Amino acid sequence: MYQPLLEKIKNKISHWTNNSLSYAGKAILINSVIFGMHNFWGASVLLPKGVIKKINKLCKDFLWGIEDGTRRHVFLSWKSLCNPKSEGGIGIKEILSWNWAQMMKWVWKLLYRPHSIWSKWIHHYVLKGGDLWQATTSISHSWYWNNVVKMKDLLISKAGSISSAVDWIDACSGSTFHIGQMHSMLRQPANLVSWGALVHHTCVPKHAFLGMMEMWNKLPTVDNLIQRGLYLVNRCVLCCCQNESLGHLFFQCSFAAQIWSSIASWLQVCSFTSLELVISWFMSCVPGKGMASSRKRIGLLATLYYIWKERNGRIFKGLHHTADFLCTQIKFVVCNRAA
Ligand SMILES: [Zn+2]
Repeated sequence: MYQPLLEKIKNKISHWTNNSLSYAGKAILINSVIFGMHNFWGASVLLPKGVIKKINKLCKDFLWGIEDGTRRHVFLSWKSLCNPKSEGGIGIKEILSWNWAQMMKWVWKLLYRPHSIWSKWIHHYVLKGGDLWQATTSISHSWYWNNVVKMKDLLISKAGSISSAVDWIDACSGSTFHIGQMHSMLRQPANLVSWGALVHHTCVPKHAFLGMMEMWNKLPTVDNLIQRGLYLVNRCVLCCCQNESLGHLFFQCSFAAQIWSSIASWLQVCSFTSLELVISWFMSCVPGKGMASSRKRIGLLATLYYIWKERNGRIFKGLHHTADFLCTQIKFVVCNRAA
């Protein structure tokens, strides 16, 4: 029954894999096009866990890439990526809890739209005047209705009691049912991170994605890869004289320090010498404070991005650029993005 949905997603992804998309670009496609596909099906049915697992696998393989038939190293868990930006994720909709929220619409419909044909039919022929909150699943009922009952039970268990479940439905009720509101109540929230939303706000998406990976210290720097059991020679390709770690590559490296010195003085911020300073700067950043703040955030993330890009270019393509050249690129991005 769900094969057409899986085939559609596979076909769509196969069209994209030939393009050289950034992680941020892929995440946007997952959260728009792929989301649109399972969202359409999930509006009417409770998707089986096996199907959700297959869709998630297709999305993860697409996002991280496949090499020699296996998925490349995953540096940030799917669960973390599915968290909202304020919690340090990128807000990919987690299919299971989103599907639950969609299905709660039928519970809402029975309570708030009792005069619809479907509600009247259920109240008359299935509930037979009984209380929805006391309904139980039965083999004599349809698969569809049993799923609605399961969702009602899930709602009671998540809310803690029937009266709280009623309050939750009430909080999502308006001229229509607010699925997003229900989803935020059903999902298990992670801790808020001070830099979360600011990293993404007005910044170039691929710079923001890299910034997020960096804030979690999850970039595949050589020391991280060695910790994961890969045998590699650890040498920073930017200065060729120290070991590569996140702290060294982006801050202590003499090449990176040259870039920071130039960009920090141009943006009129302190020169960053550690990730902790970057995070603390983000914490002091006031959202919506105006162009100056936005320029600084864009510049800071662009600097991190161009240092990482230069490192990858030297390792994988043998390309070398000077610190001055990278500073010009960073300033160009800031002037264009913040204009
Ligand atoms: Zn170095």
